[in-house]
Amino acid sequence: AKRDGGNRVRVFDRRLGDQVRARQQAEDDLRAALGTDQFVVHYQPIVALDDQRVTGAEALARWQRPGHGLTPPQEFIPLAEETGMIVPLGRHVLSSACTRAAGWQSAGRPLGVTVNVSTRQLADTGFAADVTALLASTGLDPHLLTIEVTESVWADEAAMRVLTGIRETGVRVALDDFGTGYSSLSYLQRYPFDVIKIDKSFTWSLEDPRTGGVVRCIIDLAGAFGATTVAEGVETVEQADWLRAAGCGYAQGFLYGRPSAVQDEWTATGTRP
Ligand code: C2E
Ligand code: CA
Ligand code: CA
Ligand code: CA
Repeated sequence: AKRDGGNRVRVFDRRLGDQVRARQQAEDDLRAALGTDQFVVHYQPIVALDDQRVTGAEALARWQRPGHGLTPPQEFIPLAEETGMIVPLGRHVLSSACTRAAGWQSAGRPLGVTVNVSTRQLADTGFAADVTALLASTGLDPHLLTIEVTESVWADEAAMRVLTGIRETGVRVALDDFGTGYSSLSYLQRYPFDVIKIDKSFTWSLEDPRTGGVVRCIIDLAGAFGATTVAEGVETVEQADWLRAAGCGYAQGFLYGRPSAVQDEWTATGTRP
């Protein structure tokens, strides 16, 4: 038994060593990737539930990591946040999104664009100035830009001040993954916001009466604060019908489109030959 235990410790050591090396490699690769064109932004349509028209899109980061293919954000955003690399990376995403949306705007298709911003980015002193400069240089109407934050931002007073300042310039604020963190009515009351995003986990179990009740409550809550609701992860017509009947404003999900690099389909103005 003693020997077995020793072996297990060695196996564990080796696995841990592998993990540490893989993480270090990912960190090195991530650092090297900044300033190259390895980070791409995909866009997923957001549709109005009443008439199914695309009204905007969420910008979602992807990493074309050499030797690894297209890497999803869960595999590099947490690392980028830990190391502070989220600041330059987030600036790149924001810049791409504003440029893309300004293109839609000048093509006569003024769609909104919504960008995920981590608390770490908001806490960076240059953030507000970056947003202002990007809106000026691209000519994007500030109302067409929405910043998506999670409830965790409430814990950071400085980040909240920056967010409040940006909102005063006409940029909209969305609460992402609402109801999955530490929601508090007092925060909702204290800090104005424009959109509540209903998390996928709720959308996927609407038939459960308790979940259904919570979602109705979130929709009413948003209404009481003059905000709209976007349901994420909508994959079926049944989910869309339920949400529409409950008064949810907008939906996003594979039913309408996956995140993708090209958006010819839903950015068409309808005036093409
Ligand atoms: P999120 O902000 O909650 O984004 C929505 C996620 O749900 C996206 O995953 C999207 O592809 C996925 N999704 C949308 N509709 C459906 C559906 O119908 N079914 C299923 N199964 N999934 C759906 P993605 O692109 O992998 O992004 C994951 C997370 O990574 C995002 O979650 C966001 O928290 C983070 N993220 C992505 N891009 C950025 C970024 O530029 N900056 C920051 N800070 N975070 C980002
Ligand atoms: Ca989001
Ligand atoms: Ca979300
Ligand atoms: Ca989420």
